[in-house]
Parts: sequence; structure tokens; C-alpha cells
Amino acid sequence: MREGVKFKNMNPPYPPLRIKRGRIKVDPSLKAVLQNFSRSYLGKRQIVLQGYDFEALRTELAELKDRALEENERLLARFEEKARAHGSIVLRARDGVEANRMILKICRDHGVLKMVKSKSMVSEETGLNDFLDKHGVVARETDLGEWIVQLGAERPTHMVMPAIHLTRHDVAALFFEKTGQKVPEEIPALVRIARQEMRKEVFAAQAGLTGANALIAENGTIMVVTNEGNGRLVSTIPSVHIVLASIEKILPQVEDAFLLLKLLPRTATGQTITSYVSFIAGPHKGPQYIILLDNHRSEILADPQFREVLRCVKCSACLNVCPVYQIIGGDEFSHIYMGGIGTLLTAWIHGLKESKRLAKVCLRCHRCEEYCPTKIRIADLITALAERINAETGKPLWKRFAFDGVMARPNIQKAAFGAARKVRRLIGKKNGFSRKLPAWMKRYDRFRPLPAPAKKPFTTLFKKCFVPEMSENKQKKGMVTLFAGCLVEHFYPEIGMAAARVLSRLGYAVKPAPALCCGFPPSNAGFRKASGKAFAKLLEKIDAQGPIVTLCPTCTTMLAKKGPEVKESAEAKDLATRVKTFSQFIFENELESLSALMPAGPKTRTVTYHDSCHHKNILKASGASRRLVEKALTSEIIEMEEPDKCCGFAGSFSLENPEISAALLADKLAAIEKTGADIIALDCPGCLLQIRGGCRSRGLDKRVAHTAEIIEDAICQKAW
Ligand code: SF4
Ligand code: SF4
Repeated sequence: MREGVKFKNMNPPYPPLRIKRGRIKVDPSLKAVLQNFSRSYLGKRQIVLQGYDFEALRTELAELKDRALEENERLLARFEEKARAHGSIVLRARDGVEANRMILKICRDHGVLKMVKSKSMVSEETGLNDFLDKHGVVARETDLGEWIVQLGAERPTHMVMPAIHLTRHDVAALFFEKTGQKVPEEIPALVRIARQEMRKEVFAAQAGLTGANALIAENGTIMVVTNEGNGRLVSTIPSVHIVLASIEKILPQVEDAFLLLKLLPRTATGQTITSYVSFIAGPHKGPQYIILLDNHRSEILADPQFREVLRCVKCSACLNVCPVYQIIGGDEFSHIYMGGIGTLLTAWIHGLKESKRLAKVCLRCHRCEEYCPTKIRIADLITALAERINAETGKPLWKRFAFDGVMARPNIQKAAFGAARKVRRLIGKKNGFSRKLPAWMKRYDRFRPLPAPAKKPFTTLFKKCFVPEMSENKQKKGMVTLFAGCLVEHFYPEIGMAAARVLSRLGYAVKPAPALCCGFPPSNAGFRKASGKAFAKLLEKIDAQGPIVTLCPTCTTMLAKKGPEVKESAEAKDLATRVKTFSQFIFENELESLSALMPAGPKTRTVTYHDSCHHKNILKASGASRRLVEKALTSEIIEMEEPDKCCGFAGSFSLENPEISAALLADKLAAIEKTGADIIALDCPGCLLQIRGGCRSRGLDKRVAHTAEIIEDAICQKAW
């Protein structure tokens, strides 16, 4: 692990923690609201990004933010100088408490009893409203969403749409309760009332506080973007204007702000531009104070591993596409900032301990990273955070047993699976599923039965059935090492056998890799040492010269990407270059030969395809699988809604968060059912476990099959 400064565990955290304790609760109506929003966001985003090279633009923005972070102090000093020259008073606040005190002093110096606010998520971070309230200054929000949540004595649950969790009905009921007016449950009517009330507040306030989307160093200008225009009212009507902005908002030049403007509205709300973009240079009529808040950001800046967190422009795209956020919302998945990025910010700003529960609910699906306009590696950083949580707050006992005790020790792992196989008759049923867990553990398996261990592991079956056939092929196209992964080895050996047969028919000699854990599960849980041990053992034993073909995208991710990070060595790097998933390997090398082996037949079956998270988001291999499946079945894939949304398995995630896992699976099954397809094709044995189990518990008569099985069936013309 790279060196970095230690996390500060502030005690007690301020503002007081709102992270919930106990089991996660899934509220079906909130889930429906968030999912509808997400679908509409994705549609709008796609339209406004047409004609733009998103990848190139976000690379440019990420590089710009990195340069600005590199020169943070120099740029801040330049900003201060220029802003002072325009007549602003610039102050620096070390932390939230200091910022709050500065604001209170400004209020007292200018006789401010009422303040109106706009666009200041940072003031949520410092707990400003409560602080001012305790000292006799009333602070009123004017952004519609913020205003509504303040009216209901709640906290924002989304960074761009703070009241996203409330329906029109909820808002109308709240207005009735607070104003006594019966309001129609229609958005224009609700907005009209809110506007009337807010305008009264703005004209009665002596000070206005805004945040900043960017601080421009070359001319000391503040850029604020809003959709409601209230930022302009707040910064111009009251006699005192205060800007509270965190230090990472600094950009070198005006044209940099234009690059930000190209991406921010498109990724935040799916708009080409927000309705109001204001550049505020100097004070309008009274004094203008600019408070530059650090609040532990200098510590993030000093940490080479986590520094990129400060690239965040708070657009919320990561929330809008996060499968977990869509299930539990910002009330469960946040302290101040929400979702994966919120977890990282919470760890640094409010304390490592406080981020523990948040880190546990992240699937590490990497979907957010596909949409982030500043390319923050949120999932990988949450894994790194989990390592630090383990190191500084202690590892849970069951994880120590599973990862340090079993997965890092191949002999114990082998013995454990061997013992499970011996009692297979007791724990398993004829249909391949396990018997139900005891009632007190029902939350883990009632939403989908777990598989029973296979009679024989893949490597044993292979030796028994395959050696002669494999050696005959030896001279044709060379040797392929088949890395099955633990789930195929112990639960689904038929997938391994199918892959071996396909490779053999294509002219390859095949040998199975030793049945060892690749080290991914401990790595994902922040058990770096255990992961390094498991991976090193595999490296030592694998004895593979040519290509290595895997049947699990997660194992592939470990062998090709993470392995060389946990165990740096020339062997690890060499191995990484030779690893491919089964689909990638066949697609890149054998597409034509495969056509010759698969006689074209009439379209008889309908198929849909589920994108496994690592396969799509890390390995970018979904396209290859789709082509292969369509070829094998001579049938076009019927796309399900959001095929790249996690099915809820995610390894130990489904054990730690069965409620979220069950909700994600229910959504996946609903999307599958809507397609009407007979077959669900996929490339990950973990997703297969989850979706096959889900189909079973719902009584859905579907075939859930790995791409290798589908191709084998096509080659052998097996009937289903
Ligand atoms: S990795 Fe997945 S679950 Fe975690 S924050 Fe990103 S989108 Fe959400
Ligand atoms: S992490 Fe990326 S996607 Fe999420 S709010 Fe920040 S910039 Fe936007």
C-alpha cells in the first residue's frame, strides 16, 4: 500500500453523525422514485452527450483538475490577490468549526439576524445552519430542494436534488402543514408557493451566502451555476455577500471553467447548460467575504493514493447510476455527501470510523466510474479505504476467519471444500441447490437458494474425462491453461468442462490451472496481506507458459489488474499480459473457426444478456460475449433494461447486505421477465449463482447459462 497521511478520527464528528445503525431498510416507494429518476437521467444524458467525445472530454477535465490540485496553494494565493484587488475580503478556514465562527463574526459585525443561502453543500459539511441558529442568526435555504428539506427539518439526500426522496404528494402535505394553505399536488403550484415564501426571505435578509462551482485564479472570479436564479438574488439583494467554498474548487483560468461547464450540466442533470451561470468578480453593493475552507482537504491532497477524490465537481452522476443508491437512497448511504464519493469524503472529513458502514454497502461494481466526468476510481478507492479501516479500526472476526484463515491458506481451503462435499447429501438437494439455512439465518438465502457443492470438483472431473483428448490436440494450436475459479471448481464444474470441450474442438490442448483462490475476495474486503499471500501461491503453482483463459471476470480482474499491485513482480506482470476471459479469447482468436463448427440453424430460442460488473466495467468484454452468444444461438439478444446493473451478488456483499442484494436481484429478474427471453446468458459464475437462484425461488423456467455452456451446446447441437 502506498504511503499516505493517517486519517483523522475526529471525536466527536461535527456536524453530528446521521449515519444510521442497524440493518439497512429498503423503502419500496423511495426505490421507485430513485429508479424512475435514474432512467430519465440516463435518457437525457445520452441525448446531451451526442456528438461529444465523453471519454476525451473527461480525460481533459481530470487532467485539468489534477494540474490545479498540484498547484493548489499557488493558485489559491493568486485568487486571493486578484479577489482582494476587486474589493473582496478573503479569509482561510482550517476546518468547519473555524468557518462557522468566521461567518458568525461577520454576521455580528454587520448586524445580520437573517441570512439566505444558495448552492452551498459545503455549509452542510460544516453544520452551519444549526450553528448559526444556536447563536441567534436565522439561516434560510433558497434552492428549492434545500428549502423543502429545511422546511421539513430533514437533510438533503442528493447532492444536486436535495429533496429527491420526496414526492409531489409529500411536498404538498408539508406545505399544508407549515403554511396552512391547501396546495394542489402539481409542480407549478408548489413552485409558485415556494417562490413567494423564498422571495420574502431574500428581501428580509441582511446577508446572503453562496457556494462556488469554481474559483478562477487568474482574475479572482467566482463561478456559480444554478437552475433557479436564486443564487443571483442571494448574492445581490442582501447587503452582505459571503462565499463559502472549499479549496479544491480552484481553477487556473476562465477557459478552464468553460470546460467544466461543458461537462457539469450534461453529467449532473442531462442538460446542455444550466439556466443561470454567474461570474461574480467583486462586491455588488456591500462587503463581500470569501472564505476558503480546508477542512482536511490538505490531508487528502498530501495523500498520493486518495488525492483524486478532490477532482470531484459534485455533479452527482455517480449517485444517479449507483445501483445501491437507487435502492436505499441518500438517507442510508451518506453522512453529508452521498454514495461512493460521499463514503470517501466522509472518511477524510468526518472520520474513518464513520465511513465504515458506508464502505460496506458499496458493491465495488465500478458503474459510477463509467459516468464520472473526472474519472475518479471510486470503487478502487473504497477498497483502499477498507484496507485502512481494517488497519486502524480492526478487522471483523468472521472476515479474519474467512480471508486470513481460509482463503490465504490453500490447504485449509481445500479441506473446507472437501468436508462440504462429504456432507453434500445432508446439505444439498437433488436439483443442485442447498437445503434452506436455519430460520435465524433466513435473510441470507430465502431470496434465492444457494447452490450445493458439486459431487466432484472441476479439476478432478477434468483429469478423469479429458486427459487423452487434450493430449491429442497438443500439437495443433498449443496449450491453453484454463483457470476455472473457485465457484466453477467447487459448484459449477460443468462450466469448466464446457469451456474445455470448446477449446479442444477449436484445436487447443487444455490443462486446468491449480484449484487455488486468485486472491480477489480478500483484496476486495481490504485484506491486502491475505490477498497477496493467495495470489503469490497461485503464481508459484500455476506453471503456465501460453495463454491463460478464465471463466470468471472477477478472477480475470485479479490476475490481469490487481495481482501485480498486491504482489509486485516480473512474473505477476508477465502473467497479467496473458490472461483473457473465455469470451475475449475466443472472440479475438477463433471467431471464424467457431463459425465453421457451429452449423447455422433456425432461430429457436430467445436470449437476453446480463453484463457482469467486472466483465463490462473493468475488462470491457461485454461486446465480445454478446457477439458470441448471438452467433451460437443464431438469435439476436433481446436487451433487458439496464443490463449493466448489478444483480446483487458481488461476493461477500450479498452476505453482508442481504436486503440490498435481494432488492437488486428482484429488479434484475423483473427486467429479465420483461424481455420474455428463454435464456439468460452471462459470463460470471457469481452472477449465475445469484440469477439462477433467483429464477428458482420465483419459479421462472429459464436457462441461466455461462457463455462457454452456450457455445458448447451450439457446437454439440445439444437440445435444451
Ligand atoms: S462501485 Fe457501484 S455500488 Fe459502489 S458507489 Fe460505485 S456505483 Fe455505487
Ligand atoms: S465523483 Fe465524479 S460523478 Fe460523483 S459527484 Fe464527483 S465528479 Fe460527479
